[in-house]
Amino acid sequence: MRNVHPEVFLVARPQLDYDAIAAYLSEIGGSSWLERLDKGDLDNDALNLAEFAGRLCYRSWEPGLNPRSVLEHVSFSFALHNVSRVLSHEIVRHRPGTAISQESLRFVRLNDIPFWFPDWARADAELMQRATAVLEQLEQFQLWMADHFGLDAEGLPFHEKKHKTSFMRRFAPDGVATGLLWSANIRTLRHTIEARTDPGAEEEIRLLFGKIGELMRAEAPALFGDYTVQDGAWVPRWRKV
Ligand SMILES: Cc1cc2nc3c(=O)[nH]c(=O)nc-3n(C[C@H](O)[C@H](O)[C@H](O)COP(=O)(O)OP(=O)(O)OC[C@H]3O[C@@H](n4cnc5c(N)ncnc54)[C@H](O)[C@@H]3O)c2cc1C
Repeated sequence: MRNVHPEVFLVARPQLDYDAIAAYLSEIGGSSWLERLDKGDLDNDALNLAEFAGRLCYRSWEPGLNPRSVLEHVSFSFALHNVSRVLSHEIVRHRPGTAISQESLRFVRLNDIPFWFPDWARADAELMQRATAVLEQLEQFQLWMADHFGLDAEGLPFHEKKHKTSFMRRFAPDGVATGLLWSANIRTLRHTIEARTDPGAEEEIRLLFGKIGELMRAEAPALFGDYTVQDGAWVPRWRKV
């Protein structure tokens, strides 16, 4: 058994082509917007893409004409590292505006199960001793099955190996730590950060979405600066779902 912690890495963000935007704005007579950005706001592509989309809807390229923004064009990708299958079952319930790739446990040997224990669990000696014993028994069973099925024998056909490893993963606990690439647009992010940091949400997903909230507030403060955070719950000033 290997002790792990859920982590998030922001691995992809929007990048604008300002030459193409300038060409478009010149075509439709909106160059003054880009000139205003050029005075200091060209470093936040996420915000600029949302603003560009909003202004395009109404041709509102002049100051103060229309302050709306459009949030679905702007997507970010997160590598969710050492998160459990409990968490992955929950995150896939959020469908619009997302894309997901998840590690296949067909190709991972489960004889050293990565597992996150919250601090309160780690402080409970008997719980830890019993939990560790259960995980070790599962690991021993994985080793036995690998040997029993001859998974490392030379010449075992790949489809046969996949067939057996697929069976073996059924004996992984839901808490086994795994990995996802999760992409979401800003509208979805705003909704999920609120829903999944709610006090009623599950402990691990609350922790994870708190981290995502922190990352996004630093990344795009104009798009995530309206939240108040109390006891880990992120509550936005504005909602649009
Ligand atoms: C604290 C918490 C506890 C939960 N507990 C449980 C539980 O015990 N059991 C359980 O089964 N689930 C549970 N869930 C999951 C929950 O039921 C939803 O499946 C999940 O939150 C995704 O729904 P969403 O409204 O957030 O929609 P998302 O998929 O995130 O979509 C966002 C919004 O888009 C719109 N939308 C999405 N899909 C459609 C559609 N098909 N048609 C029309 N509009 C759509 C809706 O306005 C929706 O609110 C829980 C969720 C939370 C946050």
